[in-house]
Amino acid sequence: MDNQNLPLFTSVSGADLTNQATGLLHDLFPICRSLTGDGVRQTLGRLRLVAAFEIMEIPSGTRCYDWTVPDEWAIRDAYIESMDGKRVIDFRNNNLHVVGYSTPVDAVMSFDELAASLHTLPHLPQAIPYRTSYYHPTWGFCLSHQQLMGMDRSQRYRVRIDSTLKPGSLTYGERLLRGTSGQEYLITSYCCHPSMGNDSLSGQVLWTLLLAQLASRKLRHSYRFVIGPETIGAIAYLSQHESEMKRIAGGLVITTVAGPGQFGFKRSFVGNHIVDRAARLAFRDLGLKYIEYPFDIHGSDERHYSSPHFRIPMATICKDKYHEYEYYHTSLDDLRFVSGESLVKTLAVYGQAIENLELNETYRSLHPYCEPMLSKRGLYPTMGGQVKQSDGSANPAEGRVYGGSNNQVIHAEELDATLWMMFYADGLHDVLDIAEKTGLPVRLLHIAAEHLCAHKLLEPIKRPEATLS
Ligand code: ZN
Repeated sequence: MDNQNLPLFTSVSGADLTNQATGLLHDLFPICRSLTGDGVRQTLGRLRLVAAFEIMEIPSGTRCYDWTVPDEWAIRDAYIESMDGKRVIDFRNNNLHVVGYSTPVDAVMSFDELAASLHTLPHLPQAIPYRTSYYHPTWGFCLSHQQLMGMDRSQRYRVRIDSTLKPGSLTYGERLLRGTSGQEYLITSYCCHPSMGNDSLSGQVLWTLLLAQLASRKLRHSYRFVIGPETIGAIAYLSQHESEMKRIAGGLVITTVAGPGQFGFKRSFVGNHIVDRAARLAFRDLGLKYIEYPFDIHGSDERHYSSPHFRIPMATICKDKYHEYEYYHTSLDDLRFVSGESLVKTLAVYGQAIENLELNETYRSLHPYCEPMLSKRGLYPTMGGQVKQSDGSANPAEGRVYGGSNNQVIHAEELDATLWMMFYADGLHDVLDIAEKTGLPVRLLHIAAEHLCAHKLLEPIKRPEATLS
């Protein structure tokens, strides 16, 4: 196999990686991103210093199936000012204060006239909500309910949004890492939310760190990394790469990965596609608990990538999944909510899931007539009684209890991996399947298979793995 000596995801030490993730979260958090505009360019430009990728532009007005790339939005300032010149709401304090894609306004109006354009969250009175109006021209302000309660309803206010909407372009980033297997996977995230930590920003940072890690190693499969604005970015990308995207085996949408709470896993629409299985086994082999969510059309860009013409199974690994945490789409999803430490933990799960795809293989036994004699090949412990023999229980993972030193336990697991690999090497079970059936780590089974291949007891068969779902 061509990936025998691949390094695992350990090229950067844990502390350095956490510092890098924390630094990126802090650097990028203040930027006012939207569907289009300089906030996205600035963000992708900064990320590109960490991992190389191409930045592309699609002009406003470009038709993408049923959609059109919108005009580019720029905002310089916005405020609600009392008549004595004091800013009551100030975009400079928090870019969530302005409804994304707000049209310009410069007017004096009563509180009652203004009220229809104010958005708050009464149930979360300290939080500024996140609102956008991309395709319906309007303007508005978002503020905490406490701020609203503090406004004098008998006063008139000067309202100003200094924004422009004019033809420009939609910006996205991409990089294709080429492997040798002929299998290609899609790794996406979205870059369009202003100052929030877990939603959008954490995904952008993880996408970049994962790209940097994969770009530094030899790969068996190809990985297409795409990052752009949510929805219109995915649709525009699909429309411009239709034939390439028809060849994608499956993929991962990276979103909401750095919260303090539970890991989550959202299945692809297939539910048991190789990408789903690789992700579940990653959690299992890392010993991490997680919540599994069914596929749901209310989510991120999987609904476009998985739409009928493309049908790319896309799963998501997250930490505090969107829609599930209280601060979602509010100003409280900030740098106190997310951490570089959490992000790096989720990065490890993505890394392991991809490692599982890389290591997956289907083998055929070259000694299918009974169990081959392992001891004469040095593949069996010479001292009888060192390890417990297989007890034939229905779930071998639960039946593995060994006495003796740690070395003996490891030795016993290696022997188990060797025996199970030989047992299932009928050309019908891939390594992920055997890992699921036996409870043995994917990596251990892979190592056992390598040894068995070296001893001419197994050989990999050429089989498109993505069709095994
Ligand atoms: Zn969002």
